[in-house]
Amino acid sequence: MKVAIMGAGLSGLSCAKYLEDHNIEPVIFEKRERVGERFPNMEAIIQLVHRPLKDPLIYINKKYNINLVPAGIVHTIEIHSPNHKAVFTGYNLGYTSIRGHDDRSWERQLARQVRAKIHFNSKVTWQELEKDFDRIIIATGDPTISRELKVWNTDTEAFLKGCIVKGRFDTGVSKIWINTRLSKNCMVYFAPFDENEASYCTVAMPSSPEELDVLWSRTIEELGFEPVPQTEFKLEEYKLGRVTTRQIGKILLAGAAGGFVLPFMGFGQIPSILSGVHAAESIITGKDYNKLTSWFEKHYMNSLLLRKYVNNLDNEGMDRLVSFLNLPMVSNLAANTNLPIIGMTAKAVCYRNLIKSRMLQKD
Ligand SMILES: Cc1cc2nc3c(=O)[nH]c(=O)nc-3n(C[C@H](O)[C@H](O)[C@H](O)COP(=O)(O)OP(=O)(O)OC[C@H]3O[C@@H](n4cnc5c(N)ncnc54)[C@H](O)[C@@H]3O)c2cc1C
Repeated sequence: MKVAIMGAGLSGLSCAKYLEDHNIEPVIFEKRERVGERFPNMEAIIQLVHRPLKDPLIYINKKYNINLVPAGIVHTIEIHSPNHKAVFTGYNLGYTSIRGHDDRSWERQLARQVRAKIHFNSKVTWQELEKDFDRIIIATGDPTISRELKVWNTDTEAFLKGCIVKGRFDTGVSKIWINTRLSKNCMVYFAPFDENEASYCTVAMPSSPEELDVLWSRTIEELGFEPVPQTEFKLEEYKLGRVTTRQIGKILLAGAAGGFVLPFMGFGQIPSILSGVHAAESIITGKDYNKLTSWFEKHYMNSLLLRKYVNNLDNEGMDRLVSFLNLPMVSNLAANTNLPIIGMTAKAVCYRNLIKSRMLQKD
């Protein structure tokens, strides 16, 4: 079986690792000149997002032999709204991961676990690969090819701007701000690389790229940090959406190209890694790739419901949400149990909307 992988990121390299562990050597094509050339950036894996998995890193290690070392083990998450603050504390609320060209980044760690040669600076197209390979994994981190194949639908898109800061940090503390003045209906997040460096990022849905710059300047001023020169990055129109099918003939769509990013807060690392593994599993066993990855649909729809709910909140609503999250019972359930809080909250939002629309009909 001749397998080509387009993209040496999380899903592509996870796919390669699983194939190699099962004696299939793929050929990897990467458009950049090295693995993880994107700006250095901190990302997070929050345990409650990935429930029922108790510990996603232990799971992918034990089940799929993929070993990823996080930057930090999160013991505290602070969520700030304009006038309130919720704090979740627990033994292990999740992890932080370094992305980009840092040697500790997850894509670099994965590349060290893969034997296959990576063809850098690749300009090869999926149409060319179709002629020479039995299977092609599209793991390009965006929906360009899924759109060309006419299987992609965008649900939402975000603009991101971030930077690195210097200071003294606790690697176990991550912070989120939800405040329409700073990020409209999305968020600003903070996570440390290590004890001396951290990253801030504003994720927003502005009406123009210029508005993102205004939100970013306001974030710097109100949160009071100083970007390290030349570390600012900007990403426009980061699309989150779904595909109508994840396999089209020889082509399997993995990671962000297959819609494996959750629309509420953009969590996509664990789903992308798993999608890469499932693509490999489908090639090895002949099992249907859409069925192997169908577990993701429920997570996605719950996340989309929450995204739509938060899209309609003003700052008073953000304050109400954060004071609710800070109720001891709620923060304890979120931090110290394995209950599917995201699914439960999405259901509650659904019922609330249903009751609201019935009441409006009666009026
Ligand atoms: C700023 C930012 C913050 C995020 N924060 C979080 C977070 O906190 N938690 C979380 O879980 N998720 C987060 N995500 C989402 C997460 O990063 C993605 O879900 C994940 O990286 C997707 O993996 P992937 O394999 O699809 O793509 P990537 O890991 O991005 O890899 C794609 C690779 O394909 C290569 N490529 C592109 N086009 C081609 C081509 N034509 N030919 C060959 N190679 C190509 C690229 O160069 C890249 O190396 C964030 C995303 C962004 C952008």
